Amino acid sequence: MSFDYDLFVIGGGSGGVRAARVAAGETGAKVALAEEDRYGGTCVIRGCVPKKLMVFASEYSGMVGDAQAYGWDIQPGAFNWNTFHDKLVTELDRLEGIYRNILKNNGVESFDQRARLVDAHTVELTDGTRKTAKHILIATGGRPVVPDFPGSELAITSNEIFHLDKLPQSILIVGGGYIASEFAGIMNGLGVKTTQFYRGAQILRGFDEEARGLICEEMRQNGIDVRLGTNVLEMTQDSGQIRVKATDGTEDRFDVVMYATGRVPNADNLGLEDLGVERGRKGEIIVNEFSQTAVPSIYAIGDVTDRVNLTPVAIREGMAFVETVFKGNPTPVDHELIPTAIFTQPEFGTVGLSEEEAAAQEPIEVYATSFKPMQKSFAGGTQRVLMKLLVSQATRKVLGCHIVAPGAGEMIQLAGIAVKMGATKEDFDRTVAVHPVMAEELVTMRQPVRTA
Ligand SMILES: Cc1cc2nc3c(=O)[nH]c(=O)nc-3n(C[C@H](O)[C@H](O)[C@H](O)COP(=O)(O)OP(=O)(O)OC[C@H]3O[C@@H](n4cnc5c(N)ncnc54)[C@H](O)[C@@H]3O)c2cc1C
Repeated sequence: MSFDYDLFVIGGGSGGVRAARVAAGETGAKVALAEEDRYGGTCVIRGCVPKKLMVFASEYSGMVGDAQAYGWDIQPGAFNWNTFHDKLVTELDRLEGIYRNILKNNGVESFDQRARLVDAHTVELTDGTRKTAKHILIATGGRPVVPDFPGSELAITSNEIFHLDKLPQSILIVGGGYIASEFAGIMNGLGVKTTQFYRGAQILRGFDEEARGLICEEMRQNGIDVRLGTNVLEMTQDSGQIRVKATDGTEDRFDVVMYATGRVPNADNLGLEDLGVERGRKGEIIVNEFSQTAVPSIYAIGDVTDRVNLTPVAIREGMAFVETVFKGNPTPVDHELIPTAIFTQPEFGTVGLSEEEAAAQEPIEVYATSFKPMQKSFAGGTQRVLMKLLVSQATRKVLGCHIVAPGAGEMIQLAGIAVKMGATKEDFDRTVAVHPVMAEELVTMRQPVRTA
């Protein structure tokens, strides 16, 4: 049977673009890709990249005070949202162009259209044209959802926060996950009066409790009104602002309310059900370790499969798919010990098990130290950092490493190599400290603070 293409990719985000370009560029496969919105997907257009640029923008507010403490004669000025936003738009256009060119230069034919599946080897584009392919890869990502309640239509999501007409004076951010917590820090840093509601007992559910506690405490120190155990009951428009009735009995007005309480996979209206592609409870596409769905010619990678929703994971899954299907080298995706960073202020770098997970798994030793970092302490700051290692009593392996500190994302990338290699506590101890840096504590903690 002959097909128009060897591979048709639906979705031009992190996973889809990587799989398409490697399949075409490295194996000579005939590849097409459909993208209904902007190339680069969530990460580049409305996720990691613009968010990190906003983190950078927001961090400058604290730097002036620190610089003054170090002897600089400088005065804080105002943040100009329009200046930043214009540059942001230009940068995102530039990056989208790069993604388009990557596809073109590798010989991938792209269609600026929505695609849906018609059968196991056929996709249909918005204009009605049909294309056949030996393999179809679904990489359609996910999207934010706002729960249904009175006034929910007044809320924006992370999709809109990057393109506000003007910087609000006040914002309510609802949610306790990494996106909500990161944007609370960003907005606060930009000078916006920031409130964060989370219905649970502590933000950043699923991560190490000690780290979560410190991050929340520091966020409050920085001026964010974090209200735990609190949810929105109702929202109404009130003279240009949004009046919010909360479960804690309060009623406040905010210029903007952003919801970051959950994301769902983009797997609706793709024609999957008719074909027998299985979906899970959240609507995610169910795949095996090779990212293959219940229909052998159809694969899915990235957020639409709701495994580990991170850009480098979507990319890995795309590479493993090409390795398996186009290079004849079946490669399961390794989801173990993925280091990751959360760009809260303070930043959080983490790899492996939390103390709670590690202790539930086996007897452990906990090594932890919390201290005022030199740079901030000299400037009179009260911020604390945390360095923490969880060690198996039986094997001495480091099961988890958690860092709450400026630059924690950079640090955990490197610590992640050691943890992934199976380093023991003694391997850490044998490593000579770099002095004076915060991360030296990772190799100088001699006594466990507790066993569990
Ligand atoms: C605010 C925010 C911050 C984030 N920060 C980080 C971070 O710091 N680090 C990190 O690792 N991850 C981060 N992420 C997660 C990361 O963005 C995703 O994990 C990643 O983009 C997933 O890639 P993907 O290829 O699965 O999907 P996406 O990048 O979402 O791409 C899917 C693409 O498919 C297109 N599409 C959907 N349906 C169709 C269709 N039927 N036809 C054609 N095209 C279609 C969409 O328009 C989209 O462009 C963040 C996410 C958000 C929302």
